[in-house]
Amino acid sequence: MPARTGAEFLRGLKDDRQIWVGSDKVTDAVSHPAFAGAAHGMAAVFDLQHEAPEDLLIPDPETGEAINVSHMIPKSPEDIKRRHRGLRRIAEHTVGVMGRTPDYMNVTYAGFAGCWDEWALHGNETGAARQVEYQKFLRRKDISLTHTLIHPTIDKARDEMPGQENDVILRKIADTEHGIVVRGARILATLAPFSDEIAVYPGRPLPENSDKFAVSFCIPMATPGLKFICRDSVAGAANRFDAPLGSRFDEQDAFVVFDDVEVPRDRVFIDGNTKVYNHVMTKSWNSNVMQQTMVRAATKLEFAWGLATAMAEAIGDKSPNAQQLLGELWSYAELARSAVQAAEDRPKEWSNGCWFPAAEPLSALRATMPFWMPRANEIIKLLGSHNLLATPTWAMMRDPELRPYIDKYLHGAHGMDAERRIRLFRLAWDYAGTALASRVELYERFYLTSGARNQMRAQINAPRDRAMALVERFLAEAVE
Ligand SMILES: Cc1cc2nc3c(=O)[nH]c(=O)nc-3n(C[C@H](O)[C@H](O)[C@H](O)COP(=O)(O)OP(=O)(O)OC[C@H]3O[C@@H](n4cnc5c(N)ncnc54)[C@H](O)[C@@H]3O)c2cc1C
Repeated sequence: MPARTGAEFLRGLKDDRQIWVGSDKVTDAVSHPAFAGAAHGMAAVFDLQHEAPEDLLIPDPETGEAINVSHMIPKSPEDIKRRHRGLRRIAEHTVGVMGRTPDYMNVTYAGFAGCWDEWALHGNETGAARQVEYQKFLRRKDISLTHTLIHPTIDKARDEMPGQENDVILRKIADTEHGIVVRGARILATLAPFSDEIAVYPGRPLPENSDKFAVSFCIPMATPGLKFICRDSVAGAANRFDAPLGSRFDEQDAFVVFDDVEVPRDRVFIDGNTKVYNHVMTKSWNSNVMQQTMVRAATKLEFAWGLATAMAEAIGDKSPNAQQLLGELWSYAELARSAVQAAEDRPKEWSNGCWFPAAEPLSALRATMPFWMPRANEIIKLLGSHNLLATPTWAMMRDPELRPYIDKYLHGAHGMDAERRIRLFRLAWDYAGTALASRVELYERFYLTSGARNQMRAQINAPRDRAMALVERFLAEAVE
């Protein structure tokens, strides 16, 4: 089964996964009210690949079957541009509000499989080979994959360096005839209700000799012992008038418990090997995955600029203040677009003939985005002001007693009718002000770790010869 349709994706979610939300243990993720909107929203992402095959489908390099372009292992600079087209098309569909459409993990595992040699070290050749096979399965079955990387926070003074006695952090506890058994927890797994499988791979490095914590694998969501504790739904109303984004894009986040979960041997990619665990995320991963995340972020900022511009027009706000705020937002969108282009214009060849964008522009962007995204929300609130709350519901719009008042008193400037104005401000509120917006803002601040950590890392890894030479001239020159 190559590239799936939305209906096929929804059928795949009907399994025995153990997942809780609100006061319910969910038996059907597709129809539960907390999940139904996003399940169908994600199904639309699967349908999209058949609606826009020219952007989203490529032939599998071995079978020729149509697979999603996000599974591509780029083998040339042109491939990177080709992948960009597909990633941008997906990002446009959710206007970047869904951070974890499956292309995120598809790109990640395409990179892992392409640069397999980064995993085939310190005796992990078999694990690396299994992962290459797994990526074939992922792309040919068009699997929706989530991931969980971070240890739960219990005591921030100690958690970063797990002691051997730690009984919270996910760890291997036994070998079995067919594989390994793992126990513990990780935080979080975005997309959990809408994934077919979950991936565990390294987040932050472990201290030396932490072998029992050094595991990586992928397993189906319904694997016995896996338990998913979801946060409250932020979907809001089910209809697209009241909640234009929440009604379809609440991708969910779950805390994950591994209650003695058996992982089949062919799905174990790192089996108690701290050296490999601490190595694999330090090479090509960053420049590969950042193409997906930053194409999404750039698209989201462009949408925010468009939204803010339409809001200002709706209320005839041509004030210098509004123009300056719009200019600030445009600058973020344009800088993001330019950084992605700069990275793609000077790609680098990694091992096995794999090509990924230049790391520096994308790292700088990733480190800055946690500050721009909340500011974009703030700008939308500053421009929107009370208008963001003068937004009758769809039920009110259809109330014959109320509608004449709405049409008379809530229309916009330059003849904009009330319905268009209300839709616009509801969209803006869902983007910047609702519970969904608050969760998405938290996501932008913290997915792939905090802005602070990203800033720290980006500059540590950046080439500094020219910067230092500019300084050195003044330190080394003759005084008289
Ligand atoms: C909505 C959402 C979805 C997520 N989805 C997933 C998922 O699907 N899979 C997954 O594995 N994880 C997921 N995560 C978890 C995410 O990876 C972690 O939340 C992230 O790594 C941040 O963890 P932390 O609190 O340890 O961050 P830290 O980097 O420790 O930051 C914590 C605080 O310390 C500050 N700080 C850190 N370093 C410095 C410094 N040097 N100087 C000054 N201040 C500093 C930060 O600014 C921040 O305020 C998700 C998180 C969120 C919020």
